[in-house]
Amino acid sequence: MVQIRRNMEKMHSIDDAERRTYRRLQLVTPQLFAQFLSEKGVARSCLACGHSELSTPETMSLDSSRSPFPEKKPSELTEEESQQYFEATAVHYATPSLIDESKTKLVSNYQYRLVCQNCGFISYFRAANVVYWVEDRMNVHEDES
Ligand SMILES: [Zn+2]
Repeated sequence: MVQIRRNMEKMHSIDDAERRTYRRLQLVTPQLFAQFLSEKGVARSCLACGHSELSTPETMSLDSSRSPFPEKKPSELTEEESQQYFEATAVHYATPSLIDESKTKLVSNYQYRLVCQNCGFISYFRAANVVYWVEDRMNVHEDES
């Protein structure tokens, strides 16, 4: 019994770590990723063909903790409230992918892609560099306010 409980606690802590990792990855909006690249002096053209239209795959998810109606379930909302719910909770972020599927899901094991719209060449950037950069900026803003 004790053994089982201990295993479950261990699983919970892994889940929490993964959730924390994902929260940090979700800070990186496509706009912030573009700002990061330009601040780091990354060329705005494809390394293979020189084309200037590059895109980053992005993901949209709903963060229910931002709901303007915390006391209601999404299914209980009126149509108008659903619209407000959607606008308040939608989070857009650059889609992270795992660098090594067999390793732990830490920020350091994720990467972002930049895809050339002309030739399809893909370049990869370690997510950690971007996440740390975004978090640094957020700290600065908190100090200023
Ligand atoms: Zn290209």
